[in-house]
Parts: sequence; C-alpha cells; structure tokens
Amino acid sequence: MTRIDPSPGRSTLGAPVAVWIGLGSNLQEPERQVSAAIGELATLPESRLLAASRLYRTAPVGPPGQPDYINAAARLETRLAPQALLAELHRIELAHGRRRDGTRWGPRILDLDILVYGDARIDEPGLTIPHQEMARRAFVLVPLADVAPPELAIPGLGILAELLERCERDGVEPLGDSDPAE
Ligand code: ATP
Ligand code: CA
Ligand code: CA
Repeated sequence: MTRIDPSPGRSTLGAPVAVWIGLGSNLQEPERQVSAAIGELATLPESRLLAASRLYRTAPVGPPGQPDYINAAARLETRLAPQALLAELHRIELAHGRRRDGTRWGPRILDLDILVYGDARIDEPGLTIPHQEMARRAFVLVPLADVAPPELAIPGLGILAELLERCERDGVEPLGDSDPAE
C-alpha cells in the first residue's frame, strides 16, 4: 500500500510514489501550453519527471462548439502528499492564466489532473484519486498508455490495457501522424 501519512498538514512523504498526471488545453496555442506545462512538471519540488507522452489532438467532450484539445500524460515520482501535489498543479494552471468560471468541461488554457497516485484511493473534498472519469476517456487513457505499462492496475477501476480496449478511441490522434487515407 502507498503510505500516506495521516498527520494533518503533512505535505511530504518519506518514500517516493509513482504518479501519473493528465494534461489538456484547448485555448491559446494548446500545443505550447501543454509542452510548457510538461517542462514545469519537471521542476516540481520533491518530484522527478520520469516520462512524458506524445501530444494528441482530441475531439472535445462537453459543451459543443469548443476547439479541439491537445492532451498528454506524464509520469512522475514524488514525495509530495496528494493535496500538496494538487496545489502545485493548480499553481501551474493559474500561472498559465486558467480561470475557473464554473462551466464544467468548458474550454480551458490548461487542465492538470492527478490520474493515479501509487495505489492510493482517495475521496476527499476537492480530491478524488484515481481520477473518477479516466476509465471512460480515451483522451486520457491513450496518452497514459505512452507512459505507463499496459498491466498498470488503476485502483478500483481496472487494468490499463483492459480499460483501453473498452474505450472508443475515435477522435484521439497523435500529433504529426499523417492520415493514411490522405
Ligand atoms: P474533470 O474532473 O471531469 O476532468 P475538470 O478537470 O474540467 O473536470 P476542474 O474544473 O479542472 O474540472 O476541477 C474541478 C475540481 O476538481 C478541482 O478544483 C479539484 O479540486 C477537483 N479534483 C478532484 N479530484 C481531482 C484530481 N484527481 N485531479 C485534479 N483535480 C481534482
Ligand atoms: Ca480534467
Ligand atoms: Ca481539472
């Protein structure tokens, strides 16, 4: 089990934990936003960036009429406790100009979600891990598969390879791949 120190206010752990982050953007040069955010993940305190996925162009889910998204995933190891890691991700989102206007799944400059945090299952106000929607989202699972082994067990949700098989991958394309039909 991932040991999460129960003492309140404790923001770091003794041993590093394997963590996967999902990244997304569909405003203000999304490729640049996501690439820069990956660079910023590499500078997080108490953490090491181990791998970053390709960038994917993905069809928007949520309110219609939004631009396409750029999505990616990153693998880190960190000693930051989950809430401290979330605070760092929110800080990066804010530095990119993200403002939450209350529209769920509306267009955004940068979205950083904690997908998986070791084998932890967390359900606290403002933080649910593993990320609740990831099992149904090809735009999360396909990039994740670039930086996680197919046999990764996602606590409470299943094995990555099996989740991938079940999801609809249409509309998730790596950047730079030409369409063979063209
Ligand atoms: P979704 O969660 O469906 O991907 P979203 O990313 O658009 O939607 P946001 O507006 O970015 O939602 O975040 C809403 C809140 O979700 C955040 O303020 C944060 O506290 C909370 N949250 C809960 N679990 C997580 C998690 N695993 N990673 C990031 N944020 C989370
Ligand atoms: Ca999200
Ligand atoms: Ca989010």
